[in-house]
Amino acid sequence: MLYLDNSATTKILPEVLETMMPYLKEEYGNPSSKFYSLAENAKKAVAKAREQVSTLLGCEPDEVVFTSGATESNNMIIKGVADYYNDNNITNKRLLTSKVEHPSIIETFNFLGKRGFEVSLIDVDQFARVDAQIVKEVTEQTQPLLTSIMWGNNEIGSLNPIAVLANLFEENGLFFHTDATQVIGKVPIDLKKLKGIRFLSMSGHKIGGPKGIGAAIIRKQTKEIYTRITPLLHGGGQENNYRSGTLAVHNIVGLGKAAELAAANLEQNVKRLNTLEKYLTDIFNTNLGNKIKFNSDTKEKIPGLVSLQFIGVNNELLLKKLADYAALSSGSACSSSKPSHVLSASGKSLEEVRQTIRVTLSPDVTESELDFFKQIT
Ligand code: PMP
Repeated sequence: MLYLDNSATTKILPEVLETMMPYLKEEYGNPSSKFYSLAENAKKAVAKAREQVSTLLGCEPDEVVFTSGATESNNMIIKGVADYYNDNNITNKRLLTSKVEHPSIIETFNFLGKRGFEVSLIDVDQFARVDAQIVKEVTEQTQPLLTSIMWGNNEIGSLNPIAVLANLFEENGLFFHTDATQVIGKVPIDLKKLKGIRFLSMSGHKIGGPKGIGAAIIRKQTKEIYTRITPLLHGGGQENNYRSGTLAVHNIVGLGKAAELAAANLEQNVKRLNTLEKYLTDIFNTNLGNKIKFNSDTKEKIPGLVSLQFIGVNNELLLKKLADYAALSSGSACSSSKPSHVLSASGKSLEEVRQTIRVTLSPDVTESELDFFKQIT
């Protein structure tokens, strides 16, 4: 079985699993406990993982808040900012996002929209990218409390002009969040240089780590002062009071190791993914020519993600037919009655959406495995 759905999830890396195992067996201490070695060992392991994640992203370790994944990070940041700054003598109910965000962003904004917030949605181009100039104009006019724009799109693979946006938000001082779930380990990230990014979300299982763990990066306001948000989970005050609950040490350790490997192998993985992507698109072009149409751009994109249409072929029927041989996706978990909001917002017709499949590679796929596509074409 050829696994080509790596944007949905990745297989856990052997080194990650190995690092996690002791924390599922003998090292079961609670890092919030004190003095005895099981607790201290757990505390040290969490501190190391926090360091590994912060090194990957170029932020301070105490700006890393462990969560259950990117869905929680997105919810926590958006609801947390919205609530805090409407409860403390400041009232700004304007929020801004794009039309092609992950459901954990869109639905969170929808939720707030029903509670009196004014949510504006930025249009995107044919590759699902926002125009930084439009973001600039809208933010100047409306001064939103929070703007959330994803770094790279999970369905079509386009990267947004994040450095330009970060500069913009550094200048205007407004809160900016980016969902970086799909770009971790695929693009270099240095938050020290991107000061306008106040909040960032990421997830473990997209980078060879375990499921059920991720991080919310909450940059400090100044060196000492933490950015305030209302927590999603109240309780014992773990994670600097941002997120209560006993830490999932095994998962945190796994995320840390996956982050370390993502940083160490970034260059090599990107090179490999680009080589494989070219190999794959060449097969499609040579064998299918005018029977296919690419949705993804060829530049400023997530390496290894290809979204394309098989003209006249229903995507779900094709995926079903191939399911015994290859794991592919239609781009999102969309049902036939509810087509992809990303492709629709990028100007694709319903027919085009229904003939789209997404292939997402991993560096360990081989060229001869991809030759599989020569047989089906
Ligand atoms: N954001 C994006 C862009 C994603 O692709 C995903 C996962 N599909 C998520 C958020 C949610 O991540 P998690 O599974 O960790 O909740």
